[in-house]
Amino acid sequence: MANGTADIGVIGMGTMGANLALNMAEKGFRVAVQNRTPAKAFAVRDDNPDLADNVLPAETLEDFVKSLKTPRRVVFMVPAGQPVDDEMAKIRPLLQEGDVMVDAGNADFNDTVRRSKEVEGSGLKFVGMGVSGGELGARHGPSIMVGGAKDTYPLIEPVLTKIAAKYQDEPCVAWLGPDGAGHFVKTIHNGIEYADMQMIAEIYGIMRDGLKLEPKRMAEVFRDWNTRELASYLIEITAVNLDEIDPETETPMVEVIVDEAGQKGTGRWAVIEAEKLGVGATTLEAAVAARGLSSRRGERADAAKLYEGVEPGQAQFFADEAGLAELESALVTAKIIAYAQGYAAMAAASDENSWNLPLGTIAEIWRAGCIIRSHFLDDIAKAYDKGHTVVNILQSPDFVGRVAKGQSALRRVVAKAALAGIPVPALSAALAYFDDYRRARGTANLIQAQRDLFGAHTFHRFDKDGAIHHQWPAV
Ligand code: NAP
Repeated sequence: MANGTADIGVIGMGTMGANLALNMAEKGFRVAVQNRTPAKAFAVRDDNPDLADNVLPAETLEDFVKSLKTPRRVVFMVPAGQPVDDEMAKIRPLLQEGDVMVDAGNADFNDTVRRSKEVEGSGLKFVGMGVSGGELGARHGPSIMVGGAKDTYPLIEPVLTKIAAKYQDEPCVAWLGPDGAGHFVKTIHNGIEYADMQMIAEIYGIMRDGLKLEPKRMAEVFRDWNTRELASYLIEITAVNLDEIDPETETPMVEVIVDEAGQKGTGRWAVIEAEKLGVGATTLEAAVAARGLSSRRGERADAAKLYEGVEPGQAQFFADEAGLAELESALVTAKIIAYAQGYAAMAAASDENSWNLPLGTIAEIWRAGCIIRSHFLDDIAKAYDKGHTVVNILQSPDFVGRVAKGQSALRRVVAKAALAGIPVPALSAALAYFDDYRRARGTANLIQAQRDLFGAHTFHRFDKDGAIHHQWPAV
């Protein structure tokens, strides 16, 4: 392998690393590749003869580093956590001032902040970069959320711009802010993704258990919805999922799949971080909790037996045009609320960390390439693009009318599902959040009274300034 000829290097030839490297090679970059098990790096070249000239596998880390042009650009695509620290520790002594290390895995942004500090002053540069789009996105165009020092971005921008997904010719990649900004935004992206998927699954639950529709009919409905406001990758794949027939049993594929959802933790991080910031993202939280409960299948089956014969109330869902339109409108409205929660978490994190996150740009780079890609994100981008401050998506003039119109459908769907005993935790969390958010006079006054009674925590009065403690009767 010729030394000093590779434009960029990727360490970790798993699903994401190999596909990202092939994407780079296809766009004309020479890519050095390395893997803990070196044979995999060679296989990436040998299995892709059309791109072999641009894929340079290395047996050792030393060979890998030698093959790179300076300043060296090294992308890690290994599991988040200790493997990233281990790989960084191994390569650092081989790098020189000005070289760039990029963690492109799903890192906890707190780790990215720590690693940025550790690298500071060493002459090396560190970038935490979120990549979304799964295997296909990595291969043909992901959405890329970049963090790190602003002046480091130009060193990797030419490659990222070429490999990123395009939305109407605009590359879905941007520098979003210092240190952990990129990974934080990717974390919230995944939290929103969980909410989106859960809400679709809840509507599927109503279609199955309330409307008694066959999966094939459901697929038609989702395909129809994909032509309007809900048009998105997740609605599109849902129709494909519902249409598929299991070749072994010749029954719908969804019916042979066990109802236990997996998770790798990024959705949970989103919820934890939102809570830490004091902007509970309740719809995202409901989605994470629902995945947790889904995996307790045996326990659920036991509970189902205990409550056998317990009749839920009466609720009538209709599979006619009006009934389906109501479900569609409820899903659109809950989706706006879920995104408002994710955006509120990003706005709070931006203030807390002085990141100055470009919230409109984030919507723009999510419009293609990533799992939550949709035209709806273009609406969010436009709402932020108008030059005025968007306090919250739910207060944006672009969305107020839509939510005001759709809220009654969401209300009816949640109420009917509750009466029929069909769980809709994310949809109902969205509705509850909306009602709480739009209530000028809340009920926290009573909580303040309770806190003051048992803990002398004090409260504020409408008619006086300052913190006040009241002598409550002894209990
Ligand atoms: P993967 O298929 O499991 O591959 C992991 C790669 O990392 C393998 O090449 C493996 O090498 C290597 N590796 C594992 N442990 C290591 C260690 N301790 N030290 C050094 N190398 C190690 O993983 P992936 O799906 O590509 O994911 C990579 C990163 O991308 C993760 O952070 C993941 O969360 C993130 N991500 C994944 C997706 C997705 O859809 N899969 C989407 C977005 C982001 P060996 O061959 O030697 O085992």
